[in-house]
Amino acid sequence: MENLEKIVSFCKRKGFVFQSSDIYGGFGGFYDYGPLGVELKNNIKKSWWNYTVYKRANVVGLDSSIIMNPKIWEASGHTKTFSDPLAECKECHKRFRTDHLIKEQNCDEANLKCPNCKGLFMPSRQFNLMLRTYIGPVEDDASVAYLRPETAQAIFVNYRNILDTQRVKPPFGIAQIGKGFRNEITPGNFIFRTREFEQMELEFFVKPGEDEKFFEYWVNERMRWYVEVLGIKKENLRIAYQSKEDLAHYAKACGDIEYKFPIGWSEIEGIANRGDFDLTQHEKYSGVDLKYFDAESGESYLPYVIEPSCGVDRVVLALLCEAYTEIEGGRTTTTESAKEIETVLRLNKNLSPVKIAILPLVKNKEIITEKAKEIYNLLSSHFYCEYDEAGTIGRRYRRQDEIGTPYCITIDFDTVEKDNSVTVRDRDTMAQERIEIDNLIMYFYKQFNNL
Ligand code: ATP
Repeated sequence: MENLEKIVSFCKRKGFVFQSSDIYGGFGGFYDYGPLGVELKNNIKKSWWNYTVYKRANVVGLDSSIIMNPKIWEASGHTKTFSDPLAECKECHKRFRTDHLIKEQNCDEANLKCPNCKGLFMPSRQFNLMLRTYIGPVEDDASVAYLRPETAQAIFVNYRNILDTQRVKPPFGIAQIGKGFRNEITPGNFIFRTREFEQMELEFFVKPGEDEKFFEYWVNERMRWYVEVLGIKKENLRIAYQSKEDLAHYAKACGDIEYKFPIGWSEIEGIANRGDFDLTQHEKYSGVDLKYFDAESGESYLPYVIEPSCGVDRVVLALLCEAYTEIEGGRTTTTESAKEIETVLRLNKNLSPVKIAILPLVKNKEIITEKAKEIYNLLSSHFYCEYDEAGTIGRRYRRQDEIGTPYCITIDFDTVEKDNSVTVRDRDTMAQERIEIDNLIMYFYKQFNNL
């Protein structure tokens, strides 16, 4: 596994991720996804949605607004308690997360030293992470609203609407993908901790008493997605269960799925048994009855909730760390590559941004480039393709290997003069196969699965 700096510079060089507001020197804790990054991110989100919503009869989707009635955040406890401990240095006034410093320096709060100037800290205080804004033309206390710090609360406040309009009953789930915002004290480690990020969250409503069974079920299901669908190695993933003392006040149980990042084992997803905390709170604050009435048994109850909550950006980073491979001297020992380091991005081919590259073997022969463009037009309505005629064929292959393109197609004289076939090259094995143009679409549909 490579270090994080390599991944950061690779992402910038190849157009996966740029720092936000780049020409203005960036903006702390914000990033932009470039042409390849947006494809990778979309493929991950599509896979999560397929796995969580489409493949289950009892899960439905939602896309809620980012700014909501501020009472929601009072009910959920975010206004009061969604905070991190902040330590400010007495000397240089730099700010850090107190809990992070305690872990790093392995001492108690009173003895912490500033990592920047070795100065001492002022007493730690709680810092609320919600980003505020004002709604309407007047900026006063009454017009304060928040950018949502998570997507989950929007699901709880839509639970009644969904129960009343869809044919669902516990156990059932509501899934949502969307942006969340947190005014993190110390954003960092590239896209691992940012102030604007994207979450994929599921709230799964179950009958009280069935919650422990479903908590275990979702821990297993979520691990299965990383290993079997995304193709992350099992040994690079682990589940860290929180002890009773570490649990948030609303949670009955919590397990974090961690990935072995170059920065160490870190959370990519949290799975919590939230009991009936959220629905109880929203019932109390809104005055609306949120109980589920089971007509069969005549029972009425507030469901318990199991919540798998996953960060898209952290999955992007994990996949890039997993796939990025440098091969010294290259995979072929031509003189051209002997001195070079060859990079191959061994992404699961279903997640690769570009699926197929179309490469005419010679550039100045119209008969060949015309055919190549024809093939590009044929395939690009089915798969994301790239057409490239610049440079030697070896360089063009390497350019595609580097961005993780699983297949390259070359078009040569035989294609147009003899067999109406092309050569398809595999990124990982470098094996080449001759395929008839008429069979190409079917051939590629067989190579890619609907994730
Ligand atoms: P951490 O302990 O790393 O701050 P958290 O426990 O506060 O994370 P949750 O509130 O459980 O995170 O959010 C669920 C998921 O959302 C996390 O597992 C992570 O993938 C993602 N996430 C949370 N905060 C951020 C952030 N600042 N930047 C990127 N992703 C985030």
